[in-house]
Amino acid sequence: MRQQNLYGWYYLENSMIKTRFAPSPTGYLHVGGLRTALYSYLFAKKNKGKFLLRIEDTDRERYVADGVANILKTLYWAGIAPDEGVVMGENGEVDENGENGPYTQSERLPIYREHVQKLLEAGHAYYCFCTTERLTQLREEQTAKKLPTGYDGHCLSENSVEAKKRADGGEKCVVRLKMPKSGETVFTDMIRGEVRFKNGLVDDQVLIKSDGYPTYHFAVVVDDHLMGITHIIRGDEWISSVPKHLQMYKYFDWQAPQMAHLPLLLNPDKSKLSKRQGDVAVEDYIQKGYLPEALVNFVAFLGWNPGTEQEMYSLKELIKDFDLSKVGKAGAVFNIDKLNWFNKQYIKKLSNKELVEVSRPWFDKTGLLKGKDSVDLLEKAVELERERITVLAELPEAIKFIFELPNYTADLLVWKKSTKEEVKNILPELVEFFVKLKSGDWKKEKLATKIGEWITKKGFAVGSVLWPMRAAISGQENSPGPFEIAEVLGKEETCLRLQLAIKKLSN
Ligand code: GLU
Repeated sequence: MRQQNLYGWYYLENSMIKTRFAPSPTGYLHVGGLRTALYSYLFAKKNKGKFLLRIEDTDRERYVADGVANILKTLYWAGIAPDEGVVMGENGEVDENGENGPYTQSERLPIYREHVQKLLEAGHAYYCFCTTERLTQLREEQTAKKLPTGYDGHCLSENSVEAKKRADGGEKCVVRLKMPKSGETVFTDMIRGEVRFKNGLVDDQVLIKSDGYPTYHFAVVVDDHLMGITHIIRGDEWISSVPKHLQMYKYFDWQAPQMAHLPLLLNPDKSKLSKRQGDVAVEDYIQKGYLPEALVNFVAFLGWNPGTEQEMYSLKELIKDFDLSKVGKAGAVFNIDKLNWFNKQYIKKLSNKELVEVSRPWFDKTGLLKGKDSVDLLEKAVELERERITVLAELPEAIKFIFELPNYTADLLVWKKSTKEEVKNILPELVEFFVKLKSGDWKKEKLATKIGEWITKKGFAVGSVLWPMRAAISGQENSPGPFEIAEVLGKEETCLRLQLAIKKLSN
């Protein structure tokens, strides 16, 4: 059953809401694609409906072998698992689930053939035998005359019986949609509101190409209908295709789904989001060490806004609060600083153990995780840097000094208001003091108090002690504080590093 509201037709409970994401397997998932998938998923889940994944691979020239597996891996990484369609099997393989398959367009050719036949028989579509040369010449002439480019209907006048004979006989041809040349196509987009197109400006779209494959426009209509899609949510760039699609729904006498066209994603300078100004592949963000929760939260806000102060949203909360009517029409700026902020917030939420766990791929690359002992040490070490990093990929480099003391020169040990001579005197005394400290005192707070007292008693300047201590045990110009590092290293390693510093000073 259906009813009309402000947006046009909408479905009542008895027909389940079904959305879809329909990517082409071109090798990677664009962040804009992730947003489309996320919004489609959220809308379906909020309405207790289903989210379907279909693979649109009819453009054989753009086909990439592992494209489907990559898209699936990325969607599951983000927590967006399809209920129907192309899914990931138990062992991570590409699988299918549902009764409306196959869900990969290249496997549906007989279905398109059958449906285009219906349009041809009803006179809503026609064979076109125009050569590429003729079409190129036509376009050049139209461009020269400053006319809109498009097919001139040359083959429309062909006798349809004759045309069918030629096509059946194997003559190279395409099938085109017969678009009405007058009137308007009007529809109500869930985001843009009422949209109008003059039919006369819409091209007679090719539906079946000369290689026998359907075009996107034909396959998308047939599939959305046969797969029971009730709501199409996709990028703004598809809005100009809607009149062609709606015309096909009319010809087939099918009810068209509701549509929502999402605002463009923009670079900070308001140009269209492009590779030139930063990464656009979700895989790039995964590799850098953005957490899925952070990227999903960030992407959810690219166009949508709950209208409250709340910024941190789990996927569950998004399902509850997401509202298509709150998606704006204006382009959404992809602000990497905001994404970084989200990532830091989500890193904060992790325990040290969880942080080590999620950072494992980056630690594995650096060989920092050798035995169980190093895992324990790692958990302590990440505590030092967890507030300082933005992405997980920075973590191994940031805490490497705990595992391997960097090579440094004696100059690093001298505080700006001190002298090499003074450091030479202080460090041996500091080691002696440490040796006498009880192991129970080897905690950052206690160390701070004890060393503080010792410095006062000795009459040293604080920097003359703490700078060389920190430099000696970190081997770095910048690092976390000396007490935090000393606690993680333990008394023995701290003293060893100080002794090495003393040696460096005497060289
Ligand atoms: N295959 C199209 C794409 O690559 C899908 C467009 C649509 O959602 O209708 O984005």
